[in-house]
Amino acid sequence: APPVLAIIGRPNVGKSTLVNRITRSREAVVEDVPGVTRDRVSYDAEWNGTDFTIVDTGGWEKDARGIHRRVADQAELAVDEADAVVFVVDGTVGATAVDEAVVRMLRRKKKPVFLVANKVDSEAQMIEVHALWNLGLGRPYPVSAVHGTGTGDVLDAAVEAM
Ligand code: GDP
Ligand code: MG
Repeated sequence: APPVLAIIGRPNVGKSTLVNRITRSREAVVEDVPGVTRDRVSYDAEWNGTDFTIVDTGGWEKDARGIHRRVADQAELAVDEADAVVFVVDGTVGATAVDEAVVRMLRRKKKPVFLVANKVDSEAQMIEVHALWNLGLGRPYPVSAVHGTGTGDVLDAAVEAM
């Protein structure tokens, strides 16, 4: 089977937009595990001649009480089955408490993680991106999933790691 790249992060950071950009809106491959289909969706993808499976996560409810747990659980399932992980944060907001909880989980998993600072639509927004080095996940990759900029650099690195 091709290697698996999981896309995780808080709701609304642009995970699905990024996945659509990478797959150019190919059909989703329906998961065969009942109960997880709505939360994790796999797509066939290809980058520079390497085929891989990309898994979009999301669909959890924004329950204020349980959001930390829900985000972490969902991300964890996807990460457990992945060969590499793209962790998406909102590059215009910076790291939140929920993002930091995801980082703690990722540390335990010891898988290759690539940090994407999404929504960096202009050069002026690069200022926030630099602060993301503090998450301890290595270099943040500035991306605009909407404009399609920056995705090549992170895919080069992720495909190499898988
Ligand atoms: P998800 O919940 O993480 O899957 O996020 P979505 O992909 O559904 O995107 C959430 C919102 O962010 C949508 O309104 C997107 O259009 C917007 N968005 C996604 N990527 C970008 C980006 O690169 N720049 C900007 N400005 N907005 C974006
Ligand atoms: Mg989504």
